[in-house]
Amino acid sequence: MTAFDALARIQLGLVQLETDSLLRKRSLLESEQGAHVRVDGRELVSFCSNDYLGLANDPALAEAAVDAIRQFGVGAGASHLVTGHHRLHHEFEQAFAAFVGKPAALMFSTGYMANLGVLTAVLTRHGEVFADKLNHASLNDAAQQCGAKFTRYAHADLDQLESLLKKSAARDRLICSDLVFSMDGDVADVDRLLALAEVYEAWLYLDDAHGFGVLNDGRGGLTEAARNSPRVIYLATLGKAAGVFGAAVAAHADVVDWLVQKARTYVYTTAMPPALAAALLASLEQIESGAARREKLREHIAALRAGLGNLPRWQLMPSDTPIQPLVIGKNAEAVAVSGKLLEHGLLVPAIRTPTVPKGSARLRISLSAAHADTEVRQLVAAIQSLAEA
Ligand SMILES: *Cc1c(COP(=O)(O)O)cnc(C)c1O
Repeated sequence: MTAFDALARIQLGLVQLETDSLLRKRSLLESEQGAHVRVDGRELVSFCSNDYLGLANDPALAEAAVDAIRQFGVGAGASHLVTGHHRLHHEFEQAFAAFVGKPAALMFSTGYMANLGVLTAVLTRHGEVFADKLNHASLNDAAQQCGAKFTRYAHADLDQLESLLKKSAARDRLICSDLVFSMDGDVADVDRLLALAEVYEAWLYLDDAHGFGVLNDGRGGLTEAARNSPRVIYLATLGKAAGVFGAAVAAHADVVDWLVQKARTYVYTTAMPPALAAALLASLEQIESGAARREKLREHIAALRAGLGNLPRWQLMPSDTPIQPLVIGKNAEAVAVSGKLLEHGLLVPAIRTPTVPKGSARLRISLSAAHADTEVRQLVAAIQSLAEA
């Protein structure tokens, strides 16, 4: 069968990806999400989810969702500005804002949509976005879509950021940064970013997809100064440590009111199911009372770092967060090590270029409070023996 030209180009593109070993494939999860999973028929210990606190499969969250479904049904049925804004969404927004220490908050269906919505609402073509080079793809897409000038600085190089800010003639400026960097696990210098935002009259937009629920008793990576600054717009995504789905933006109340008017990914989309907001309220309770989970996570991080900090080859990157990257170097070697671990029943993804810089292909180990001590020990022993082989 002959395809029309446009389809034929797509087909060629797929063949090319396969040839270059870049074709991405999805494996099939057949169990609940968690530290122990069944993937493509195999029982594995997973070191690749973002479910850092083990809440994705927590019975309290599931029960809250099921109760809400019984009471309110499944679908939200409309956008927030029509009739989709449920009391449960509203309750979550208020509880979330109070917890992270900001005056107001707004829920979005995903972190990707929140980033797109916030940047396009706050900036125009008269603006300029200053972005860390290692920011998440969704922030880069948002920066490109908002029409502002898009200026990137080398990872964590705030001296370079300052010199770029100095040169800027844009009317509105916005600095945006991952708060915890998703592939490196390091934490942004929030207070210094805020000081630059103040001197150079910029917004500071912080994407805390990986810090909310984990850092600062679960409140995430905002510092006292950042909580109190009207310049700071804070994003938490709710499908990672919070274990559910969605995202919430916390900011000055007028910024939130503006987003309700202008964030197109908020206005022109169906509200998330209210049952998910119910699950998120239950998740917030678990996060608030989650000191034991965070303590367990800290123990795992310490055990892993003690075990892998001094390998004969491969370098563990400096990170205090549950994201613990082990740099292997070459794409093929990272894939081979990941494959060897899989033979031991350990699921650890190899992250390759172009997701990470060339020559820094790595295992991205992510730890969860749901791991048993023995499983972390098993991972450490397996990697040690591969490093010595
Ligand atoms: C996962 C992630 C997002 C996207 O959030 P979703 O809710 O999954 O769409 C945004 N920013 C960062 C840093 C992330 O890691």
